[in-house]
Amino acid sequence: MKVGLMGGTFDPVHLGHLLAAERAAEAAGLDEVWFMPASVPPHKPHAPRASAHERLEMVRRATADNPNFRVSEYELERGGTSYTYDTVAGLVREFPEAEFSYIVGADMVMYLPKWYRIRELAALVRFVGVARPGFILRLEELEPSLRERVTIVPMPLMEISSTEIRERRRAGLSVRYLVSASVLDYMEVNRLYET
Ligand code: ATP
Ligand code: MG
Repeated sequence: MKVGLMGGTFDPVHLGHLLAAERAAEAAGLDEVWFMPASVPPHKPHAPRASAHERLEMVRRATADNPNFRVSEYELERGGTSYTYDTVAGLVREFPEAEFSYIVGADMVMYLPKWYRIRELAALVRFVGVARPGFILRLEELEPSLRERVTIVPMPLMEISSTEIRERRRAGLSVRYLVSASVLDYMEVNRLYET
């Protein structure tokens, strides 16, 4: 079984994440995509604004209508800094029959050389990269051993970020059509990102 791992802070999950997962699954022939909210993301300047429970609930709601999408609490249960290498090494041990790919937006692709134990990680998974506005994919700048582990798949540019959604919420602006209706509803009921 081919499994795509969609890691992120998901603070909150938005339509860019969902389309990235859908297009990666289609182009790479993935049977399932597992959305995996990070506990403490390694390369973010601040802690997530919403709680782990809230981020998880939003991911559950956003993915509920897609039979190929699953939610994994693997990183939340482990706690601490969510290094992708630790996650993937654990999943490979736990699911020896699965073939894992790791889905990343263009901002993350160019940052891969800085990831914790990237060589060992790249030996365990292939990366599926998707375009993201504002980030140019210059694969030729990656060293060949890493570059050959990255496949870029087509993705309409979606200028959506969780940062902008949080900022819009704080300013009292609409985020409808940037997130699923189910996530919008959850944010409103729980008054997320209003302050
Ligand atoms: P933040 O602004 O808080 O960093 P984000 O929108 O970048 O949030 P993350 O949870 O950091 O979302 O991203 C998770 C993964 O999804 C990363 O691999 C990121 O590159 C990818 N991603 C996020 N938004 C998009 C988008 N609009 N298009 C393509 N990929 C995206
Ligand atoms: Mg981000």
